[in-house]
Amino acid sequence: MTNLFIEAQEKISFACEKLGIPKDASEVLKHPMREVQVKIPVKMDSGEVKLFTGYRVQHNNFRGPHKGGIRYHQQVNFDEVRALATWMSIKCAVVGLPLGGGKGGIVVNPKELSELELERLSRGFIRKIYDVIGPDKDVPAPDVNTNSKIMDWMVDEYSALVGRKELAVITGKSVGNGGSLGRDTATARGAQFCLHQYSSLKGMDLTQSSLAIEGFGNAGYNFAKLLSGEGVKVVAVSDSRGAVFNAEGLDVEDLMKWKQQTKSVKDYPKAQNIAMSELYSTDCDILALAALENSIHAENYGNVKAKVIVELANGPVTADADNAFFNKGVTVIPDILANAGGVTVSYFEWLQNKDNEYWSKEKVDEELSKVMKESYNKVVEVSEQHNVSLRLAAYILAVKRIYDAWKD
Ligand code: NAD
Repeated sequence: MTNLFIEAQEKISFACEKLGIPKDASEVLKHPMREVQVKIPVKMDSGEVKLFTGYRVQHNNFRGPHKGGIRYHQQVNFDEVRALATWMSIKCAVVGLPLGGGKGGIVVNPKELSELELERLSRGFIRKIYDVIGPDKDVPAPDVNTNSKIMDWMVDEYSALVGRKELAVITGKSVGNGGSLGRDTATARGAQFCLHQYSSLKGMDLTQSSLAIEGFGNAGYNFAKLLSGEGVKVVAVSDSRGAVFNAEGLDVEDLMKWKQQTKSVKDYPKAQNIAMSELYSTDCDILALAALENSIHAENYGNVKAKVIVELANGPVTADADNAFFNKGVTVIPDILANAGGVTVSYFEWLQNKDNEYWSKEKVDEELSKVMKESYNKVVEVSEQHNVSLRLAAYILAVKRIYDAWKD
């Protein structure tokens, strides 16, 4: 299995070489500044105490406080969290936010916990890390299997520990508890804005295009919904339990209703089941990856027929597959750009909390659109200047910005 943290470090080295940044400085940019591992005792409903492992990695804060989500998953491990934290530093710099990178995770399958156990675990994690986070230090947010309800418990726990209500310590909260309008759709919206830039630069008519999408959760479902709303035909969708295909197009809302009833897109009556791996080889123009890491790699990239791949997930295309796509002329809109809408609206939420303000959904969308369009165009410009993929261009842009902010 590819070590994504090492891959991220290699790309920082590449960017440093292109920019003439000395080796000692490159070492600093490649390594997290702080790594915390904690054990969280949780009283289960049975009365038994179970010990969970949690991580918080703070990669870099030269441009501002660390920022990054908390993931609950049985496969969370230190190197995955390190990779995710590194990508956050790069991502925030690509879209020009005054923030650094961080990430957290707990090794747990949340589907096996009751709601009260999940709450005790979330509050317990904050009790273990509260001294290393804070509105001007490190600001967590949701990631895979965490949501606004969990963020609300975490803010409540942090506020109790520091003795004051501290909304700006965590983003992705519920709207009634200081969350921002538009945060739930921000990642998908950001990716949609990137795709608009791509299609206008390449002369692609989105209304004549088809889309296959891996992952039908927050990012994937909203992306499918937004694009089908503007005339894109969604032909294939997968989730962790199965995949479905319909060459005539799927009704995204109806498919979501089916998933809510049955817990999966699998067996949806108005489509045919396909193997999950078949989704990648679907005849389509756009392939969106919105599940987890390492989906497309050296062994399966050759099956992809799409002209453009949009990485809503973090790290779904490995480095060797990415190079192969670049050589074949297939555009990969990389995670550190394509899914940056999430952290951008998290930043807007943080600003609103700090200024005691509430923005309208229209204002959030308008500001997000500006950030995404400018960032996309800048990354394309750097890629043309250096004749590299959009991913490597985004690294060059971000590493330069982080290095320029270094005041040591
Ligand atoms: P989520 O938990 O809401 O959804 C994940 C989806 O992926 C689910 O539908 C799940 O069934 C599916 N899935 C899991 N394993 C799969 C597999 N092997 N094949 C197909 N589908 C599979 O999570 P999310 O918030 O939508 O995040 C998805 C990805 O996007 C993650 O990589 C996350 O880091 C990234 N991301 C999300 C946001 C955000 O704001 N939600 C922001 C930036 C990046």
